[in-house]
Amino acid sequence: MSENGKKLQRILFATNNADKMREIREILADTGREILSLQDVGLTANIVEDGETFEENAVIKAKAIAQMTGELVLADDSGLEIDYLNKEPGIYSARYMGEDTSYRIKNANLISRLEGVPDEKRTARFVCAIAAAYPDGRIRTVRGTMEGRIAYEERGENGFGYDPIFYLPKYGCTSAELSREEKNRISHRGAALRAMKEELL
Ligand code: IMP
Repeated sequence: MSENGKKLQRILFATNNADKMREIREILADTGREILSLQDVGLTANIVEDGETFEENAVIKAKAIAQMTGELVLADDSGLEIDYLNKEPGIYSARYMGEDTSYRIKNANLISRLEGVPDEKRTARFVCAIAAAYPDGRIRTVRGTMEGRIAYEERGENGFGYDPIFYLPKYGCTSAELSREEKNRISHRGAALRAMKEELL
C-alpha cells in the first residue's frame, strides 16, 4: 500500500476532550479506521477559532491540523442556540461569561434571562458541525441538531455544560437525565457523526 493509502486508514479528530473522543470512537467504530486524538499523536495546537458559524470554526480547526500533519482530520464545533436570545450563546457557548465560569453560574444566568418567558418561546437547540479536511485539500462539512426548550431549573447529573437546562419535551426530561447511550442516539453530535460517517464511507 502506498504511503498515502496508509495515512487514509486513520483519522485524526482535532480534540483532546476525552468524553467527545469516547463518543466519536463509539459511533465511528464500524468505519474500520483508527481514530486518534491530538494527544495520541503528541500534538498541541492553539488554533484561533474566529469563524462566524459553527461550520467555519470546524473548518478552521480541521484545515489547520490537516496542514500540520498531512492526515485526514475531523474537527467539530458545537453550542447552544436559544431562539429568544437571538441564538445566544451560539458559537460562543464555551466562552459565554468566560471560559472558566462554572456551568452552574452560566445555566442560572440563562434561566434568569428567560424569566417570565412562556414554554412556546423557550425553544432552543444544540448544534454540532463537523468538518473533514482531506490530505488532498478537499473539505466537507455536516451538521447535526437536537431540538428542545430551556428548562425552568437545572435537572440531572449526566452529560456536561448546558445539559441540565436543556429540556426535551418528547422525553419529559433534560439531556442531563439521559444515559450516555440515549444521548448519543439523539444528540446533535451523534447526528453529525453519523452524517460524517456516511461521507467517509
Ligand atoms: P466546543 O467544544 O467548542 O464545541 O464547545 C461547545 C460548547 O457548547 C461546550 O463547551 C458547551 O458549553 C456547549 N455544548 C455543546 N454540546 C453540548 C452538549 O451536548 N451538552 C451541553 N453543552 C454542550
